[in-house]
Amino acid sequence: MNVRVFTVVVMIRPRAASSLTYRRQDDSLYAQKRPIYLPNQGFHLNRSQQLFERAQRTIPGGVNSPVRAFRAVGGTPPFIARAQGALLWDADGRRYIDLVGSWGPMIVGHAHPAVLRAMQEAAENGLSFGAPTEAEVEFAESIVNLVPSIEQLRLVSSGTEAAMSAVRLARGATGRDLVVKFEGCYHGHADGMLVKAGSGALTLGHPSSAGVPADVIRNTLVLDYNDCQQVQDAFRQHGPKIAGVIVEPVAGNMNLVRGSAEFLGRLRQECTRHGALLVFDEVMSGFRVALGGAQQLTGVAADIVVLGKVIGGGMPLAAFGARAELMRHIAPLGAVYQAGTLSGNPIAVACGLATLRLIREPGFYERLALRTRNLVEALAQAASARSIRFSADSVGSMFGMYFASSVPTSYREVMQCDRERFNRFFHLMLERGVYLAPSAYEAGFVSSAHDDAIIAQIVAAAGEAFDALT
Ligand SMILES: *Cc1c(COP(=O)(O)O)cnc(C)c1O
Repeated sequence: MNVRVFTVVVMIRPRAASSLTYRRQDDSLYAQKRPIYLPNQGFHLNRSQQLFERAQRTIPGGVNSPVRAFRAVGGTPPFIARAQGALLWDADGRRYIDLVGSWGPMIVGHAHPAVLRAMQEAAENGLSFGAPTEAEVEFAESIVNLVPSIEQLRLVSSGTEAAMSAVRLARGATGRDLVVKFEGCYHGHADGMLVKAGSGALTLGHPSSAGVPADVIRNTLVLDYNDCQQVQDAFRQHGPKIAGVIVEPVAGNMNLVRGSAEFLGRLRQECTRHGALLVFDEVMSGFRVALGGAQQLTGVAADIVVLGKVIGGGMPLAAFGARAELMRHIAPLGAVYQAGTLSGNPIAVACGLATLRLIREPGFYERLALRTRNLVEALAQAASARSIRFSADSVGSMFGMYFASSVPTSYREVMQCDRERFNRFFHLMLERGVYLAPSAYEAGFVSSAHDDAIIAQIVAAAGEAFDALT
């Protein structure tokens, strides 16, 4: 279908005499709002399809982050024009219930008035100074108050940066090189972390990236998630050389997989015994599974905590923190270098602060977790009523859906889920106005704007989608 659409676009695209006329002609083509009708197919080339064609000429795959391209599920990604609360509207004016939430940050829903107001007020005072501000201090104090194990933190602009810096800190503080990670966990796209990684790397079938020198990943030990024996063996063999273990305590980049209490407890125990540092990558689970993140939920304390997504409320903001004694290794106090032109950006910090204020309201997490639980239970029930092999799980307001008879506890079990079935379900839901992450290997997110009526609409759509699957 796409191939034929592409042909049509090429045919009406003029051969460019100069780049200037080319561009002007192009704009007029894409500026037309009315869908193009293809009589032989009865098919409308809608605005998202036009934009996707256009995007692919200047942006690799048409997207600025790979999973957005819908490669795993096929079809054209809706180009988003605006969002409000639990809803998104695409460039064609189609409305969707959003269960992606910008991949995690939008926990209070889109365009929350209190958040927008805080950002507008901050913007009036200037966009970036590259100098310290009072708001950063207030933000750091809030995080220290809310997240266990953090006495000091450094703000950065992405989860990738935060995880990369946390690993550097672990190495710098211990004077050791080896880092343990787990297959299917994603810690951003820094070289040493792109080995058997999750999220987009997993979705596109390249969990280990080209362009990463073998010398770099020689220092990354990759083990199976939730496998205590492997952890014990790795420490027995390499203990004195291991700087740290980095883990998603609730894995959300290979669909949703809970880290077992035994597994996380074992990590804590082995790290302590061998003088290694335990790094919890809570970029996704932080302020998502509970106000204090997975540490609060599991009772296991990390040495270094990595945060992102929710703390920025939709703006580029992430952080890594630890006890003061460890953070003293960071420049300018110590020899571990770390810096950023836009780190602690005032607009991002204002957005983060306003979001933190909303999520600290009493009962916020209890309500959100209950609604998410209701959603996954209703989905499982709807599938079971139709004898569809399906299960679902949630931790706080994070959820996983699996076309499998039980909830997976390992990477291997996630890989055994029926991906083809998910892909069909995904499109059936999209047609019914429910926007799921376009991959069987991503978690979903519910926001405080997803009220009972919205949840009921999702469940009704899923019922129809399940019917269509059988
Ligand atoms: C999203 C994510 C990252 C990377 O964050 P970016 O802001 O996309 O760079 C790192 N770790 C985990 C656990 C994540 O979910």
